[in-house]
Amino acid sequence: MNQIKQPEIGEILTKDASSHLLGAFCGGSSLRTLIVLGSVHGNETSGTRAIERIVPKLENIKEKLNGRVFLIAGNTRALKAEKRFIDADLNRHFTEQRLRDSLPDSPVAPKCSEDLEMRELLEIFNAVLSSAREEVFVLDLHSTSAEGAPFGTVGDTLRNREFTLKFPITFLLGIEEQLDGTILEYLNNRGAVTLGFEAGQHAAKSSIDNHEALIWLALKNSEVLPEISKVDVSEYRKILKASTGDRKVLEIRYRHAIKPEDEFSMLPGFENFQPVERGQLLANQKSGPVTAPESGVIMMPLYQKQGEDGFFIAREISRFWLGVSRILRKLNVADLIHLLPGVNRVEGEFGTFEVNTRVARFFPLQIFHLLGFRKRRWHGTKLIVTRRNFDTVSPFQNEIFVNK
Ligand SMILES: [Zn+2]
Repeated sequence: MNQIKQPEIGEILTKDASSHLLGAFCGGSSLRTLIVLGSVHGNETSGTRAIERIVPKLENIKEKLNGRVFLIAGNTRALKAEKRFIDADLNRHFTEQRLRDSLPDSPVAPKCSEDLEMRELLEIFNAVLSSAREEVFVLDLHSTSAEGAPFGTVGDTLRNREFTLKFPITFLLGIEEQLDGTILEYLNNRGAVTLGFEAGQHAAKSSIDNHEALIWLALKNSEVLPEISKVDVSEYRKILKASTGDRKVLEIRYRHAIKPEDEFSMLPGFENFQPVERGQLLANQKSGPVTAPESGVIMMPLYQKQGEDGFFIAREISRFWLGVSRILRKLNVADLIHLLPGVNRVEGEFGTFEVNTRVARFFPLQIFHLLGFRKRRWHGTKLIVTRRNFDTVSPFQNEIFVNK
């Protein structure tokens, strides 16, 4: 493949890290950045296929860019083996402990294939983020084993929402709350604006088309491809609109977590966005039948062997509540949350609160979501919530550079 590297980044990377870099472009005076990740899951090849299509096209218009673009292959070893992962899911691998173990001066040696992949990606992220002086946008391109329309998966910060609303796509909020160690959660915590995208079924040609369309719109929406460039992306907007239909915003309500020994088997025929009723039989596993714990729409039903999520259930959120949440977050109402009965700060953990749900039973998790908190864990009847980092303010607005 045609590899074009921004000299200053390409030159400081090790050989293994630079093998992830499928393309790098830099133009104009702006230092805003767009990072595109493809095939973080190695069996989801449509993301890197779309990147391969775009590299020669960007080469033709590179003098029109005003910012930096990095096109990156995620799990390179799994991509070669055409598997979701080799030893462990790379998109659950970026946990606090492993991030500490992966620091350049860490004495901990890599133990598996994904430890190596993670260290190589961190090398690139560190090089890109430490040289960023304006907003950094990240796309993470995925596909699903089930059929169905494409959709975005968005960590629920106001900055992520506002970026995503510029795309004509349906999106799911709050998936990061259900999963530990995702790459986008890590990049959000470092101040990037992120958008995950499920383009359709793994093998569908339309998944490559949808990914390519998303990347072109991201170039425009991040302003790395400025208005004055006169590059027309309306054709790509049409492609995404046609495959999405009416745009909706949904919130994840439930995740059915599975392990290989559960012998989970989804009933055939479920598609993304298919409505399900509470109590409806969805799957079977060793322990017995699996039914829907609540009504909603089913998302990402698992029809492949590897994976830790059997299915998700989501529900639509109205524009009204999105607007209310925006206002409450901008007003920093969360700063007053400790004044409520049954809500206490957790010492030593910034922005973290313990909610005694016996006392504060009128403030369910949804209220905390509105204010910009995410659930961390349950501790008996106590709910631990944390404010999301960089929810309303960019690190570049306050010149806080997060280069850990
Ligand atoms: Zn994936």
